[in-house]
Amino acid sequence: MSSQTDASEDGTVEEQATMQERHESVAAEVLPDSTGLYVGGEFVDAAAAETFDTVDPATGEVLTDVARGREADVDRAVSAAWSAFEETWSGYAAGRRQRVLTAVADTIEDHTEELAKLETLDNGKPISEARVDVRGAAEQFRYFAGVVRENPGETMSEGSRYGQVIAEPYGVVGQVIQWNFPLLMASWKLAPALAAGNCSVLKPAEQTPLSALRLAELIDDVVPDGVVNVLPGYGEEAGEAVASHPDVRKIAFTGSTAVGKRVMKNAAETVTDVTLELGGKSPVVVFPDVDVDRAVSLVSAAIFYNSGECCEAGSRLFVHEAVADELLDGLAAAVESTTLGDPLDEETDLGPKVSREQVERTVEYVEAAREEGGEFLVDGGEPDDATLEDGCYVEPTLVEGLDHDSPPVQEEIFGPVLTVFRWDDYDEMIELANDVEYGLAGGVITDDVRQANEAARDIEAGYVWINSYHDLVPGLPFGGYKQSGIGRELSADTLDHYRRTKTINLSLR
Ligand code: NAD
Repeated sequence: MSSQTDASEDGTVEEQATMQERHESVAAEVLPDSTGLYVGGEFVDAAAAETFDTVDPATGEVLTDVARGREADVDRAVSAAWSAFEETWSGYAAGRRQRVLTAVADTIEDHTEELAKLETLDNGKPISEARVDVRGAAEQFRYFAGVVRENPGETMSEGSRYGQVIAEPYGVVGQVIQWNFPLLMASWKLAPALAAGNCSVLKPAEQTPLSALRLAELIDDVVPDGVVNVLPGYGEEAGEAVASHPDVRKIAFTGSTAVGKRVMKNAAETVTDVTLELGGKSPVVVFPDVDVDRAVSLVSAAIFYNSGECCEAGSRLFVHEAVADELLDGLAAAVESTTLGDPLDEETDLGPKVSREQVERTVEYVEAAREEGGEFLVDGGEPDDATLEDGCYVEPTLVEGLDHDSPPVQEEIFGPVLTVFRWDDYDEMIELANDVEYGLAGGVITDDVRQANEAARDIEAGYVWINSYHDLVPGLPFGGYKQSGIGRELSADTLDHYRRTKTINLSLR
């Protein structure tokens, strides 16, 4: 494991100052002008005039303060969204919505570098990965601009009866999202909701509110006022108020399974439809025929991309005995050559985690693995590097020998921790691979097509990659089995989560 800064006391202090200065200078360039609540097409203060700080996890410095929305603000945003729906957006035919969505995609693309830098500052992800997110965000709007004209209407004529089944938007939807892909998730939520004809009240995560606010600023001239409302704030305040508001007709939530269950219970009070994109603990299965170098890079990307802060992270490796030693040696070497450091640096592979809380969570699971008798192939934890001590850094961990029932194997760590299992009996391996409460994703690595297909079908998850990982493309639905969620994103079917059917039965008698 290398970090970008080493060496002498003096050198260390100098490098640390450089990282902070660099971040301050980029912040001065890209921080949004407006960090209020975006309601009805305007940036406003919270009713209680409160704010909260958002922090750069690479340096520990406060980036800026942001309005702290609460229930009264949510009321205002929901009512602004309904006004926009009734007065403007519901009158926009599909073709007109298509032009708006395309313009949003163009706007995002035109600001790729700026948005990527902002995302890196607020979230800590390496700049190279932040650019991938921004391109993906634009792609979402472009994709849903493409499917917006899909007309699900049906008609039926029987005797003197003429029936029409039409799809109508809900009106106002509430969307609550997490912090690991802030702009990308805002786009996964907003694009289909708007395409289906709804207005949105979107609550970004409190750790990473800036890219959604900047998006609001950028699209202010492109999207009619009140169609998109962005309401930063804390989960139990703004989040809960959005997700249980009686005038919100549909809730779309991405986040942890624990909070997703609470959202679902609250939605029961108003019998509101819910889609949930929740946690994961995904298996990656390696067969004995693999090209080991290729398998190493796939397994490594599956767990370490975005510092392990991926819902679909391949966090449980099942490697066949025949290639286990070679593959694990290769993985350990790959980890050793990983660069941990300043996420604004093009060479950085692993940036900081999003917050101290997430560092502590990862370290606690690593310690739990130690207490459970885990055998560490790479022992991660916080780096022993003075230049990174103000940031939220965690080095990768590879551990084997854990009981599959133990917490580090069963629970979502959301960090760069890979738990390893060797197998030689296919049925036993599949049984273990499916023995978690989650079912979001999985990976299969083999050149044997028949074997690959069988394993992909046997893995109980909503999305299985064969010989790739994290490759999410609009048009192929993404979502979970079991406690990983309800509903699918990324596909034309997602529009159905944002509209309901109405039957009109006309008597011609
Ligand atoms: P989280 O559940 O703590 O928070 C998610 C969002 O919910 C935040 O905006 C938060 O403010 C809000 N929130 C918190 N309490 C709430 C409440 N009582 N009512 C309404 N909203 C509330 O999750 P997180 O830690 O921010 O994100 C990490 C989790 O997200 C992981 O479990 C990860 O697997 C999951 N995730 C899932 C997907 C997917 O597509 N399945 C994608 C990315 C992340």
